[in-house]
Amino acid sequence: MCSVGGADFDLEIEKIELVRYKCNNCGNKFDAIGDKVLCPSCQSEDVVKV
Ligand SMILES: [Zn+2]
Repeated sequence: MCSVGGADFDLEIEKIELVRYKCNNCGNKFDAIGDKVLCPSCQSEDVVKV
C-alpha cells in the first residue's frame, strides 16, 4: 500500500516560548525569544521581562 500525497506527520512542533519584554530605554513592549534580547525599536539591551 502506497500512500499518496506526502502528508506525513513528521513535523516536530517545537515549543516556542515567547517572553514579554519591556524596554527601559524607550518603554517599548514586545515579545521576544531567548536571553539576549534587544529592543526592536531602539536596539537597547536594557530590557526587562514583564
Ligand atoms: Zn527600546
